[in-house]
Amino acid sequence: MIRNERIKILNNLSENLNGKYVFYMMQASQRISYNHALFYAVNEANRLNKPLLVGFSIMPYFPNANTRHYYFMFEGLEELIKDFKNMGVELVIKFGNYEDIFEMLSKDSVLSVIDKGYLRFQRKIMEEAVKRAKVKVVEVESDVVVPVEYASNKKEPYARTIRNKLMDKMDYFLAENLEIPEIRNKAYSSIKKDSDFGSKEEALKRLKVEKLSSVSKFFKGGYPEAFKRLNVFLKEKIYNYDKRNDPSENLTSDLSPYLHFGQISPIEVIKETVKNKIQPDILDSFIDELVVWRELARNFTTYEKEYDKQSCIPDWAKKELDFHLKDKRGYVYSLKQLENCSTHDEYWNAAQKELVSTGKIHNYMRMYWGKKIIEWSKDWREALDILIYLNDKYAIDGRDPNGYLNIAWCFGKFDRPFFEMPIFGKVRYMSSRGLERKFNISEYIDRIKKL
Ligand SMILES: Cc1cc2nc3c(=O)[nH]c(=O)nc-3n(C[C@H](O)[C@H](O)[C@H](O)COP(=O)(O)OP(=O)(O)OC[C@H]3O[C@@H](n4cnc5c(N)ncnc54)[C@H](O)[C@@H]3O)c2cc1C
Repeated sequence: MIRNERIKILNNLSENLNGKYVFYMMQASQRISYNHALFYAVNEANRLNKPLLVGFSIMPYFPNANTRHYYFMFEGLEELIKDFKNMGVELVIKFGNYEDIFEMLSKDSVLSVIDKGYLRFQRKIMEEAVKRAKVKVVEVESDVVVPVEYASNKKEPYARTIRNKLMDKMDYFLAENLEIPEIRNKAYSSIKKDSDFGSKEEALKRLKVEKLSSVSKFFKGGYPEAFKRLNVFLKEKIYNYDKRNDPSENLTSDLSPYLHFGQISPIEVIKETVKNKIQPDILDSFIDELVVWRELARNFTTYEKEYDKQSCIPDWAKKELDFHLKDKRGYVYSLKQLENCSTHDEYWNAAQKELVSTGKIHNYMRMYWGKKIIEWSKDWREALDILIYLNDKYAIDGRDPNGYLNIAWCFGKFDRPFFEMPIFGKVRYMSSRGLERKFNISEYIDRIKKL
């Protein structure tokens, strides 16, 4: 049983009962486990006694995606191919635009199901796909605990304004039973014999996207790896989650790349977490990150169209940053110097190295990393573009609502005014001395040197 609030009928067309199969176009929720859209599609296939066809498009262009992101996604797809086969469901993976592949595979269906993405580009391709549909299309929202528009019907300015709205509704959604029933009408022989995906290496060669010299050796894509990391977190790290800000330790779940690609569900993460005896304040702080901040980010990119532009920065912060534009900068670095970890600040260089090598930065260092780019740029507007560029290029969890929210946070959004400082005005400032005072920061440097 899944809650109706997750389900939206996107057009006025009816089912085509002569269709050959129920079709699910997978895009945002790249998993089987705790996938509400898949659950819905299987149930519909059983109701109609039709097989289920799952489609996936490898888009030749996805904003800011490069070989690092695609490779991680392909690792996940290889797992899905095996798992769908075991379920008796055919997965057709094709190179091409989402809307083209949707149109091609949806046309012979009884009805079609899609999942939900929260970025402008995802919304655009999904809307275009629905326009081309010849049958009923149903959207099922699966990558959040509380469906975004049900949690709040407006842009929320702070975590504190959305927290209760999410917490009040969380149990209602955690009570859904998502055990996927056996598919009655199995696809024993191929319905569409034209899957394009051979192996991840071959697929990578076909792409015409920017090639990063390295794919990440630190993050292997796919649900089994995500689940393994979740278990390591629950066995070895969560009990010290209150010390997670210390960059010399690695006490967080490292799940953000998997959550970004929909390779694991936040609901499954919570369900596995609460099976353990965890101190209530620690559990609350983990849920605050995973549900409150993560779902605030989805509220942000849903209701703020310009989530990656200067206009999303609040007026008070813009005024402060503009007022201090003429302040003397101790250092101004070019994008190239930043990208090559060539600043005077060894802490910052280490954070950038962590990003380039692993595809992720420790959260506290990520805040410091963002703040310093503002300090070392001639104009905060330039800094905003640089931050988005570097985060989206190197982070496997980049190109995500969380990234756009947190980058905006560096410029004062979702935050409050602090005491006045050069360059930043009343926008929160971070110093290297703060890192030295709070943490054994040289241990972080040593850890990164060993990468
Ligand atoms: C400048 C900057 C850029 C960032 N860019 C991204 C990004 O591109 N993608 C991304 O997922 N996160 C981003 N973050 C937020 C945060 O750094 C990561 O979500 C977190 O470090 C992921 O590590 P984890 O999975 O081990 O986190 P955990 O502490 O284990 O948290 C579990 C999950 O909660 C969510 N979460 C945790 N912290 C935050 C947060 N501050 N905001 C929103 N959700 C959160 C994530 O989905 C995370 O995987 C950014 C932060 C900053 C300051």
